[in-house]
Amino acid sequence: MKKPIVAGNWKMHKTPSETGRFVRELRERLGATTLNPEIIIAPPFVCVPVAVEAAAGSAVAVACQNLHWEDKGAYTGEISGAMIKDVGCTHVIIGHSERRQYFGETDTSVNKKIAAALRHDLVPIFCLGETLGEREQGMTFDVVIRQLHGGLSDIRPTDPKRLVIAYEPVWAIGTGKTATQEQAQEVHAFLRGQLSGMFGSDFAQQVRILYGGSIKPSNAAELFAAEDIDGGLVGGACLQIEDFVGIIEAAR
Ligand code: PEP
Repeated sequence: MKKPIVAGNWKMHKTPSETGRFVRELRERLGATTLNPEIIIAPPFVCVPVAVEAAAGSAVAVACQNLHWEDKGAYTGEISGAMIKDVGCTHVIIGHSERRQYFGETDTSVNKKIAAALRHDLVPIFCLGETLGEREQGMTFDVVIRQLHGGLSDIRPTDPKRLVIAYEPVWAIGTGKTATQEQAQEVHAFLRGQLSGMFGSDFAQQVRILYGGSIKPSNAAELFAAEDIDGGLVGGACLQIEDFVGIIEAAR
């Protein structure tokens, strides 16, 4: 049975002190009943050690929001998979649209980062999705197919639990404009079909495909009820305990 995932992308929000308080409160709110869904938080790099410590022994896993594809070297300002693993992260977000838009990430760099994550036994949360212009031009499937195949080029995952895909239509991120259940389901089913061709149908059935884009407690249950939506990657609404817990409850 596939376990849904609710992951929170904190982006550039919260200080280390705020992180400690948030994670302790989240643990209290969740109590012991946290095995379903899988819960992941992705704070900024400097908050990760505090988050890992505060989440220790709970069902909350900690992710980073990015990594460099090399293990070490003269790459000022970068963080490697080896470092992320050593600090206690289990997952890493790769290819978020903000990284693609503001930091020049391409399918090629995303591909190298996914390979680095897998090399360090980190689960990549591989983000892809079309812009509004691309959707309006009827290019949604062309874009996601290019991103999916580009990001996973030469990568042969065998364990479907060790890869997560996040479909995040760019027009829905941080805009308050959510994809309808039908719009999201259509792309998720398409992606699963592609993954089946790439890695076999068993793998494709088991791999979790998350939806991301203005998820809130009020729309989460409907989105998560779709056959091919296996949880969510949450931005804005993961910063408030009430909202994040509401979304987690919707995934149960
Ligand atoms: C995101 O940044 O991954 C995201 C989905 O953001 P939001 O929920 O704010 O749209």
